[in-house]
Amino acid sequence: MAKSNCGGKRSRPNLPHLYARLRRCSTRQRLAVCCFMSELVNGSPVAAIIDRLAREHMSCPRCASRRFCRHGFASGLQRYRCRDCARTFNGLTGTPLARLRLKHKWLAYCDCLRDAACTVKSAAEKVAVHPNTSFRWRHRFLQWAKLDRPASLQGIAEAEETFLLESEKGKKQLTRAPRKRGGVAGKGGISDQLVNIVVARDRSGATIDFIAGRGVLKASALHTHLLPKLQRDVMLVTDANAAYRAFSRGAGIDHQAVNLRQGVRKRMHGKLAIHVQNVNAYHSRFKSWLRHFNGVATRYLDNYLGWRWAIDMGRIASAEGFLRAALCGFQRPRSLSTTTQR
Ligand SMILES: [Zn+2]
Repeated sequence: MAKSNCGGKRSRPNLPHLYARLRRCSTRQRLAVCCFMSELVNGSPVAAIIDRLAREHMSCPRCASRRFCRHGFASGLQRYRCRDCARTFNGLTGTPLARLRLKHKWLAYCDCLRDAACTVKSAAEKVAVHPNTSFRWRHRFLQWAKLDRPASLQGIAEAEETFLLESEKGKKQLTRAPRKRGGVAGKGGISDQLVNIVVARDRSGATIDFIAGRGVLKASALHTHLLPKLQRDVMLVTDANAAYRAFSRGAGIDHQAVNLRQGVRKRMHGKLAIHVQNVNAYHSRFKSWLRHFNGVATRYLDNYLGWRWAIDMGRIASAEGFLRAALCGFQRPRSLSTTTQR
């Protein structure tokens, strides 16, 4: 429901008095007043974006009908009414951003998310929201924006796994003994305390990534996550991990390996260079970026993978672009998800 911000006073303010008070404001406060006045006079740019996307993509969240009409305003947004089932909704209904407040700060927040080194705290300070709000917004904004990936890899596709220590950061009750300052895995080798992330990238730069479970890589995880993303005539290039060999044999995919453990980083196969340097470079960009966050909870890892992917691919060039991706993803129809409302 729309709320009134007038604080109960109905009388109009004395303008000379208002101007005098504005003169006493700092430069930062005056800029904030400019933004506020711009929205007051021109309308909220965020509301305009939401409404534009709604008319382009939206369908009724109950019956998926695209026959709807305008039906007043609520919470600063145009409201619509379905002509078939009579349900009312707005441009945020069914999106991850439904029921989030402070819309006038969303574009500034999206600008923070475009910054590769943006922490929850620094974004909260820049946008002047509570750190808890900053954290909640980060993951809501990434919920659909993280889903963007190419349909398939073609030609020569490199694949390799990397590991991150499993983290229960933010959980009040740990399921294991706490580690000191992040620490190291309690077990040696590749244990189930390590989360296995596979990155695959073809030589055109098309890249996919996925969490392949805990501990050592299994061929079954590759069948589930990698196979649907490979064109039939792809040549898979990996290190000498047996899981890739078993997977390729089972799936009937051409496979070439470099034995990194024996120091072979690159070899020639006819005229083709066999190496995994492109995925290795992606791993190191991902891991060095992740250090800004002092560890991330494993349950949010797919959000960070998608966020890093979007940054690495230069996918989102503006705050508005990020907001669009947060509101309707890149390919996802709006009527598919209504699970994000609280
Ligand atoms: Zn309907």
